[in-house]
Amino acid sequence: MKDQIIELFNQQLLEWDTARNFYAALNEVKVKETEVNGSKYQIQFNPARIVSSGAKVDAKTIQERKCFLCSANRPAVQKGIDFNGHYTILINPFPIFPKHFTIVEKEHTEQLILPRFGDMLDLAKAMEDYAIFYNGPKCGASAPDHAHFQAGNKGFLPLEKEWENHVTEKISDNLFAINYGFPAFVIKEKITNKAEAVSLFGKTYQALPVKDDETEPMMNVVAWYETSATGGEGTVVAVVIPRAKHRPDCYFAEGDENILISPAAVDLGGVFITPLEKDFEKITDKNVAEILGEVCLDKSAADKLTAKLKELSL
Ligand SMILES: [Zn+2]
Repeated sequence: MKDQIIELFNQQLLEWDTARNFYAALNEVKVKETEVNGSKYQIQFNPARIVSSGAKVDAKTIQERKCFLCSANRPAVQKGIDFNGHYTILINPFPIFPKHFTIVEKEHTEQLILPRFGDMLDLAKAMEDYAIFYNGPKCGASAPDHAHFQAGNKGFLPLEKEWENHVTEKISDNLFAINYGFPAFVIKEKITNKAEAVSLFGKTYQALPVKDDETEPMMNVVAWYETSATGGEGTVVAVVIPRAKHRPDCYFAEGDENILISPAAVDLGGVFITPLEKDFEKITDKNVAEILGEVCLDKSAADKLTAKLKELSL
């Protein structure tokens, strides 16, 4: 699988001009480092991402457009690899990562995490050089009507290395509450105990509120596989980030107040994407902290959730 994925990537860059150009442009993106309440963040100026950050995802727009993840509507030059019989691994032509993939369900069916969390862990294992991420239908997915994950090189998101320094409470042996500038929950489990990881995710999911007009609790998830240093089966780590809101107020603000940021898993993983240069120049750690405060859970909601999870895992 590992070789097949690299082969797909190289072959697509040879044949597909759009993808090749956007990957080449990645060398030109500007990055600056910042710290938000003691957590490490990067700001990336990446003009290609306007397609996602600026995407209209309201029901009417989605209904009227042709789904760009359906195989019938994908460009003929875009090739894929089968995964588990019902997903296709594609390269993402609008990259953030040096190697960036979209893993799409073969059927046109809505974006929902609960029935697919186990698949996400299988993907993390099969694509062990990459972090897998999920954006909920109202939490950054630009195709909320077509189930998909994304994957990008491991080691890119600061959250992967940093989360252990930000544990606020050990809920059980395999479930942790963290605060990485926002509250989140981390499931860490041997891949051989995948069923246990899926069950822990189910409990966390059940403990989260679902808004009236939503199909699932608002969330982003980042998961990856770590090989064992001593050999044998490795571990899966999944960071579940409950959300309070899709886009922050500054996204809709006029004039100087406007910052075009539509936070999704990558941003919350510690790499804030600004598709506009004016935002890259002016954004401060205070802005990032405010955005996180707005789109994620507040402390009291997170504390309640932690208490509920403690009860559940007894
Ligand atoms: Zn579709």
